[in-house]
Amino acid sequence: MSQPQIQIPLDLPNVRVENYQQTDKGLVITVVSTCTKAVCCQCGRTIDKFHGYGKAITLRHLPIFDRPVWIRIKPKRFQYPYCDKGPTHVPALRVV
Ligand SMILES: [Zn+2]
Repeated sequence: MSQPQIQIPLDLPNVRVENYQQTDKGLVITVVSTCTKAVCCQCGRTIDKFHGYGKAITLRHLPIFDRPVWIRIKPKRFQYPYCDKGPTHVPALRVV
């Protein structure tokens, strides 16, 4: 008999639930970003060269039925080509 499935509204935009597991500290939900590009905050240029995932970060979410819930997110990284401001321009990228 398989475990009952639950649907949890995460209120997180642009993520897809990859899996979830019960741990000693609560329910840990692993999500991945569905964003496909990023925008340079300084020159506004759009970058869509996906460059793998960064180190996963774990965030506290609202408890469900008094159980702690943690969201584990693997941030997407994008490869940044040199833009108009030159090779020393290190952009802050906003994932969209
Ligand atoms: Zn830029």
